[in-house]
Amino acid sequence: MPHRPAAGPRGAARRTLRTGPDIAMKILSGTALAASFEDDLKREAAALTGQGIRPGLAVIQVGEEPATQVYVRSKVKTAERVGMHSVDHKLPATVTQADLEAVVDRLNRAPHINGVLCQMPLPPHLDGGRITRLIDPLKDVDCFHPYNVGLLALGEPRFLPCTPAGILELLTRSGIAVRGKHTVVLGRSNIVGRPLSILLSQKGWDATVTVCHSRSEGLVELARQADILVAALGKPEFVRAEMVKPGAVVIDVGVNRVADPTARRGYRLCGDVHFAGVAPRTSAITPVPGGVGPMTIAMLLRNTLVGVRLQHGLAEG
Ligand code: NAP
Repeated sequence: MPHRPAAGPRGAARRTLRTGPDIAMKILSGTALAASFEDDLKREAAALTGQGIRPGLAVIQVGEEPATQVYVRSKVKTAERVGMHSVDHKLPATVTQADLEAVVDRLNRAPHINGVLCQMPLPPHLDGGRITRLIDPLKDVDCFHPYNVGLLALGEPRFLPCTPAGILELLTRSGIAVRGKHTVVLGRSNIVGRPLSILLSQKGWDATVTVCHSRSEGLVELARQADILVAALGKPEFVRAEMVKPGAVVIDVGVNRVADPTARRGYRLCGDVHFAGVAPRTSAITPVPGGVGPMTIAMLLRNTLVGVRLQHGLAEG
């Protein structure tokens, strides 16, 4: 049985809007849910710190790509907010593979660090796959190491991959059951689409899962069959109203920067779903930003606590 997020809807995570005579659409706020999740994480981190184990997360960042910097800052700040020790290892874009591996090796051996991740993608001269395999599987809070991916596929996960876990938590805590539902996942990446589809199809979650990718034929018709449609393509506003069954739940994983001369920064963020067109057809939908993103970070910190327990032989908190 896969370990599952705690059940039970929490009102703070939803806002209900009546969009037509039959459909009351809920906006699933990951921001609100992650905030309530942070309270639990804070309590657990404080309890461990009281036992002399302050949870520690190390994030390795190579180069100065602005989007990467935003993600890393957000992870480090949230870790600190819940009372964890966090280390932000900034390395220049010119770092060598050997030097990067030496940093990973040092963090693997550091007793005060319970979770290690290297923000991807790396510059092309670096071998990201080797780095993923080098991270100690007991500190692999992203759940990217082949050993942890194998355990996940067998239904015996130690860590859950952050974005898929965040989506499942968001659904569960919003009172949306996936059991027996046809879930269509657009995208098959190792970070989102594939692990999410593995989890959803396992005993305990019991969804019926269709996975689509860039070679899928009849994608519009497949998407229209979904009770729950997950968009994880990295294509701005790809999902349009005609791809969505009335009353479906839509989870938008995409985070895309789209040029917008009217915006202060010269761009705006949007998801893989055309929100304005799609939302009125749905029974529930996640916004971008403020949907899946904050939940991903909350799950990363939950994994850091899992790492503490694994490394110290403690029972599940
Ligand atoms: P990715 O590695 O680029 O994978 C994209 C997937 O979408 C691939 O499987 C690709 O198919 C498929 N795809 C692309 N174009 C398609 C099309 N026209 N029709 C059907 N399938 C298509 O991306 P990713 O890492 O999964 O990320 C997806 C999006 O989620 C990005 O916007 C990313 O920024 C965002 N993201 C958000 C979070 C969060 O916390 N909110 C976390 C991770 C990622 P092929 O396999 O055939 O190429």
